[in-house]
Parts: sequence; structure tokens; C-alpha cells
Amino acid sequence: MDIEKEIKKYIEKYKLLEKGEKIFVALSGGKDSVTILYILNKLGYNPEALMIDLKIGGQSKQHKKNMEEFCKKENIPLHFIDFEKELKCNLNDIDKFLKKKNLTRCTLCGVSKRWLLNKFAKDMRADKLVTGHNLDDETQNVLMNFLKGNVYLGINSAPISEKVPGGFVQRVKPLFYIPEKEVKNYSKKKGFKIIYEPCPYARQTYRINIREWMGAMSDDKKVSIVSNFQKIVPTLQKRKGTNLNFCAVCGEPSVGRTCKFCDMISDLVES
Ligand code: SF4
Ligand code: ZN
Repeated sequence: MDIEKEIKKYIEKYKLLEKGEKIFVALSGGKDSVTILYILNKLGYNPEALMIDLKIGGQSKQHKKNMEEFCKKENIPLHFIDFEKELKCNLNDIDKFLKKKNLTRCTLCGVSKRWLLNKFAKDMRADKLVTGHNLDDETQNVLMNFLKGNVYLGINSAPISEKVPGGFVQRVKPLFYIPEKEVKNYSKKKGFKIIYEPCPYARQTYRINIREWMGAMSDDKKVSIVSNFQKIVPTLQKRKGTNLNFCAVCGEPSVGRTCKFCDMISDLVES
């Protein structure tokens, strides 16, 4: 597969990005985000990179170093968000808190990443925030949400999120229909200096079980799972309603009176 050609086609088909927009790519240092950053830069979208330093031991240090070198070589502006600084806690306190509440690092990480990336992208007046989610990630999401008995969790899944005034910066996923193995082949062929090992916290997650279970599934099947789900998204949105609240503490979009991030931070500070 010529993924550069495919991505160009998807950007045009789904009207994902426009030249001249302020585009940020959420950079983890893994193959997906590095590949999409590289390709968008090559296609002339002048993206900037936004990276959260998760401080997950040696792996985070290596990701940071790799991305500094990569962005320098490709002439891409790189911005860092310091996880500990933004959460106003050091990692020891965070780990104690997670143990006490019987929560995983992934729960805290997932909620924080979403909040931090949106806040920083907004502060930097971004038009679009690009993420590296690929076809396999999206298929896993559909299956996981279904198996958890809550398909509404996928209500906002799409190659591009809706534009809501005052809401989240529009999220764009140009790899939405690109199989993971194609991204991996591309990044290996390009010789990107990146870590292919997953995050050490990822090993025991439900997602990994689903991923193993999906092992022999063809890419065509994955495309049909994801596109069939896309067909029911408008119905789910209509049923659920799209009333947007704003968090009473931070002012960011929220489902309840306060957002999950602020709830977690206030628990963390009190603990
Ligand atoms: Fe964060 Fe968990 Fe992903 Fe690691 S696996 S980056 S802890 S969400
Ligand atoms: Zn909040």
C-alpha cells in the first residue's frame, strides 16, 4: 500500500485538513504519530508537534530524545507538556494515589492526555489536533465498547470530530482506515529512530486481549467493522443528544458539572 497516496486521498475525501491551518500533531514517539507527522510535513501542511512527557521511566526519556532529534532533522517545531508539572504532583504521589484508589496508570493517563492536549492546542490557537489512531486502534475501540456493553463510548469516533463552538479542538485521524502493519512497514522503511516496544503499562490491558483475539482478522474485515459502526454513529448521537456542558472548575468541555480531569486532580491533591 502506498500510504502517502492513501492519506492524501482521505484528507481530501473527508475534508480533514486545509493548507494554512494551524495544525498540531499529538506526538507520542511511537510509529503512528511519527509517521503521520512526517507525512503531513512532507505534504506541506506545516504541522507542529505536541508531546506529553509522561515520565514513564527510561522509555519516556528515550522517546523525548528521539523526538527532539527527529523534529530538529525535519525542521518541525516541537512543544513539550510536563505531566508532573501539569498534575501538580510528583510520580511517587501519583502512584500512591492510584494504588489507594485501585486505579491503573492508564486510567489517569488517558483522562489527562485528552485534557492536556486539548488545553494546550486551544491555548496555541490550533485549528486541528491530529492523532495517530490507525485502523487497528479503531477496530479495537468498536469491539471493546461493544463488549463493555456501552457502544455510546464510540459516539465521537470519526476521521474528523465535529466543530463545536467552545468545545474541543477538532480532532483529526488521517490514519483512521490505514492498517497498523502498513504504518509499521512505512516507518521501518523510512528508518525512523523510534521505540517499537509498547508502553510497559500496556501489557495487561483489555485492549491487548482484544488485539490478540483480532490477530488473524483481515484488513478488509477491520474496515467493514469500523465503517459499519460509522453508519450507526449519527443515530447514537441523536439518541444521546449533544448537549455540551463546561466544567465548573477549568471551563473545558465536560459531560457532568465538573470534568473527569478536575475530579481526578482534586482527589489526587486531597489524598
Ligand atoms: Fe498511558 Fe497506559 Fe498508554 Fe502507557 S499504555 S501511554 S500508561 S494509556
Ligand atoms: Zn475541569
